Amino acid sequence: MNKNKSVEAEIILAGGRIIDPSSRSDKIGDIYIRDGKILKIETKKLIPKKRIRFSPEIIDAYDKIVTPGLIDMHTHLREPGREDEETIFTGSTAAVAGGFTSICCMPNTEPPIDNQEAVKFIYAKAKNAMCKVYPVAGATKGLKGEELTEIADLVKAGAIAISDDGKPIHNSAIMRSALEYSKMYDLPVISHCEDLILSSDGVMNEGFVSTVLGLRGIPSAAEEVMIARDIKLTEFTKAKVHIAHVSTEGSVNLIREAKRKGIKITCEVTPHHFSLTDEVIKTFDTNAKVNPPLRTRKDIEALKKGLKDGTIDCIATDHAPHSIEEKDVEFDAAPFGLVGLETALGLIITELIEKKVISWTEAITMLTLNPAKILRLNAGQIKAGMPADLTVIDPEVSWVVEPKEFKSKSKNSPFSGRKLKGKVCYTIVDGKIVYQI
Ligand SMILES: [Zn+2]
Ligand SMILES: [Zn+2]
Repeated sequence: MNKNKSVEAEIILAGGRIIDPSSRSDKIGDIYIRDGKILKIETKKLIPKKRIRFSPEIIDAYDKIVTPGLIDMHTHLREPGREDEETIFTGSTAAVAGGFTSICCMPNTEPPIDNQEAVKFIYAKAKNAMCKVYPVAGATKGLKGEELTEIADLVKAGAIAISDDGKPIHNSAIMRSALEYSKMYDLPVISHCEDLILSSDGVMNEGFVSTVLGLRGIPSAAEEVMIARDIKLTEFTKAKVHIAHVSTEGSVNLIREAKRKGIKITCEVTPHHFSLTDEVIKTFDTNAKVNPPLRTRKDIEALKKGLKDGTIDCIATDHAPHSIEEKDVEFDAAPFGLVGLETALGLIITELIEKKVISWTEAITMLTLNPAKILRLNAGQIKAGMPADLTVIDPEVSWVVEPKEFKSKSKNSPFSGRKLKGKVCYTIVDGKIVYQI
């Protein structure tokens, strides 16, 4: 065997600005890939630009940003049950078009992912997906909030977290048990914080706009009282909680305070919650009906402060596909949710990086290293020996959101026609190009 051959790369990603939060590095370099893994990162002897054009194994990343493959820790796929809205495969094609190489799917399918067989089903289907798909399993049977699932079995089958997302775990004693059991396996409980009695029948944020429109409101307190409860229970059990889709100023303040006390709490924010206020509901666009609801300018400012000071750990999409028929009804009757995989990166670049709210490194940390740490995924770093999951971004290109062009089966986006900056040009999973513009 030719010894030199064995160290040759199959693909070289050449000349990009490599941002790797784990090594705090932000340098121009070439990434050598072999057998699906990163072989080495060369930042000194770079491949000359003129060689790149004539070498099929070299990907031109000049003037592009290269990051660890993005991780979405909060995705709803609709398989099993509503394959007309999204399947594991179609969701994965949308993910890679958005630069995501790993997505974590929530258990509120029909039937829900609340047993070992269901977790295995997701992994079996994920074998044919374009990216890595990790199941989050239900915390309670049928996501009914009444009886805990067999967490040991779920962990054995590969569940990466437990959650009843879509619904809160209302019963505090059940939440306590969920935290205690998940602690035994070092898994986080991902908590959808909503006091259903306070939010009861609300369809948008409770405030000035809901009063003007005559729509029933969901008060900020519906989210905040449950976060306060979860903080207390997490402190008490010494377990790990991750708060999904934080949307209010009060929530950010509660989490900041809890972190200061050393409580093991992490949280995420969605791109729609920092990009849109409840003002957009004035058009009665049901695509902007989400749960938790879009809040106010003041809340957005607080979310941005939380992103900047590290209170918020991750940015996650809460991608929630719904059919046109389901959304094409009166505002009151429409389901909650929007598709977010293909607009997330553009919104982050346009609303956070371009407006100097956070830096590139901070944004990429919240999209890669932090979710990988919270979920203990072997991902989120550009390092020799790591799986070659990489995202190549053109930070300068401007584009207009056209939901009909989405790879997702569903088109329920309130961002139609919005001009965004920055787009994915290559998504690489285990050394294979799975998406290119
Ligand atoms: Zn939720
Ligand atoms: Zn969700």
